[in-house]
Amino acid sequence: MADYASLVDRTRTVFLSGKTRSLEWRKKQLKQTLLMLEECEQEIISALATDLHKCKFETVSTEIKFTEGEVIELLRHLKEWSADEKPSKAIVNILDKVEIKKEPYGIVLVIGPWNYPFQLCVVPLIGAIAAGNCVILKPSELSSATSAVLAKIIPKYLDQECIHVVVGGVSETTELLKQRFDYIFYTGSTTVGKIIGNAANKFLTPVTLELGGKSPVYVDNTADLEISVKRILWGKCINGGQTCIAPDYVLCTEEVQNKFIEKAKHILKEWYADNPKESPDFTRIINENHYQRLVKYLNNGKVAIGGDCDARERYISPTILIDVKPTDPVMQDEIFGPILPFININNAYEAINFINSRESPLVLYIFSKDRKVQDLLISQTRSGSVGVNETLMQYCVDTLPFGGVGNSGIGAYHGKYTYDTFVHKKGCLIKDFNKLGEILGSCRYPPYSDKKLSF
Ligand code: NAD
Repeated sequence: MADYASLVDRTRTVFLSGKTRSLEWRKKQLKQTLLMLEECEQEIISALATDLHKCKFETVSTEIKFTEGEVIELLRHLKEWSADEKPSKAIVNILDKVEIKKEPYGIVLVIGPWNYPFQLCVVPLIGAIAAGNCVILKPSELSSATSAVLAKIIPKYLDQECIHVVVGGVSETTELLKQRFDYIFYTGSTTVGKIIGNAANKFLTPVTLELGGKSPVYVDNTADLEISVKRILWGKCINGGQTCIAPDYVLCTEEVQNKFIEKAKHILKEWYADNPKESPDFTRIINENHYQRLVKYLNNGKVAIGGDCDARERYISPTILIDVKPTDPVMQDEIFGPILPFININNAYEAINFINSRESPLVLYIFSKDRKVQDLLISQTRSGSVGVNETLMQYCVDTLPFGGVGNSGIGAYHGKYTYDTFVHKKGCLIKDFNKLGEILGSCRYPPYSDKKLSF
């Protein structure tokens, strides 16, 4: 195993030299990232096809273009966001300078998952760079082709002294976490998130934990069902359901469920013809373990649509399960695959009770035309974010913070929130030796008196 202590030491020496602080250096790295996205597009597409059987359209839109948008936004606003803030001041500070300086933390460790293995590594990476940090990136070992591409192209395009890629699995990450970092940005499961949190705690290192959870979908009979079914199924089928913000399960009445299923049959046929396995647009499950985990869920409740699988290809068809009980295994952990169970409830209040009886999800999806129902669900439940009559697209609104709450995560990023994540806001009070200022402030000195308290 590599000597991570010396890697961190070397990187810290470079950080302390001040190299990463200049706007020029940061801008150059961001521009180089854009060049990397352009010149390495084909390599990235091929890696994702190897890891997940992901098609070009999904890789370009969800991995490359999304990352490009974030880089462009950082470049556009870098000067403005990194400028000192001058907050308002009280009368006692009228003669002073009151400023907030944006300080990079130092060395940021970014740990990425396998499901969107490119953008979930590169977006935090560029955020940390834009804020003037050095970065050590540890992509997921499960998406090994994409990890290999990251390890090859990042040193080619970005500053090799300040930005490093460490390839490896659990033992390498465990070793890395013994080092002292100044910030840790982790994306992955809640279980591992707790391990990361504990390791960070040892050094009081601040963290962002972008975790998962079961994101519920509430659908009522006022919703436009044709559009709702399309948007929900798309959110469940893209990337083979292996999306942290995928709709996990549906809460609706039996009547809505039956209509949903009829429409879903037509829509799936329109998208993937008779056999989704033969469609070039349908992703596979990442590995054998996850495939076996998901196949067991197919015995829960009753299969209303799909339920086909092929171990050789790690293929599971888009599947809808009905007659599912809240105590069934499929309703315990995040599904993270193309399986959509339905739980029947009678109204929005029952849905709220169901959601609130479980861990806070990363997202709550609401499909209803009724504004009162929308407001009720938003105000009476806790989730990282909310999508009304839409799935996944809230992720792409760069003016919205993206992150979880409770078990679904700590912190948020995207757009300005990404930049803010990686800077310490240092409050500075800057005085001079002005005589009037000294007179104004002199009542703080002993001897104290009640009269002085009234100032
Ligand atoms: P994971 O937690 O298994 O792995 C993520 C990273 O942690 C990998 O780099 C891995 O090498 C490392 N890791 C795994 N076990 C470890 C251990 N014991 N000690 C130290 N490091 C360890 O997660 P995953 O399976 O790659 O991703 C799926 C999960 O991530 C899902 O729960 C999903 O919801 C969540 N996710 C969340 C977001 C988000 O933005 N909130 C995005 C994508 C995925």
